[in-house]
Amino acid sequence: MDGRAFGFWWRIVEITTEHGARTCGSCTLCCRLPEIETLAKPPDVLCRHCTGESCAIYADRPQLCRDFLCLWMTDGSLADHWQPLRSHMLVYEQGPQLTVLADPDHPGAWRKEPFASDLLRWTEEAERNGRYVVLFCGDDVTKIGAA
Ligand code: SF4
Ligand code: SF4
Repeated sequence: MDGRAFGFWWRIVEITTEHGARTCGSCTLCCRLPEIETLAKPPDVLCRHCTGESCAIYADRPQLCRDFLCLWMTDGSLADHWQPLRSHMLVYEQGPQLTVLADPDHPGAWRKEPFASDLLRWTEEAERNGRYVVLFCGDDVTKIGAA
């Protein structure tokens, strides 16, 4: 297990933020990028229960799947370009760590704008509060802003 593993997790149909309704839609990034021990699912491998667009065991999915939402779904201050299928990144909080899982099929996406600037800004904000930002992409682990 590494720092990208979910301790909790889920999917939802729709949530309303101050910026309007956001939906998972056909996104399944959180069924592919994280390691999920409960399901014996390694990182960057689609969950065996995922059809590619939805969960085949939705009614019986594990509790951690029910409980998880990515930050784009819960934090309306994340701009629309952070929608996981657009950004190719999944963002969530794990205690003091802001975790960014980057799709290894799009390894350079996080270095491009507007994402690079957002990540640096998040890092500056995090460091002011004793927190930090870590990005996982395949086997690469990057602490954003670190020398
Ligand atoms: S990554 Fe976010 S938007 Fe995509 S399915 Fe998971 S919770 Fe929904
Ligand atoms: S059990 Fe369902 S919701 Fe959980 S990771 Fe697998 S496909 Fe996704």
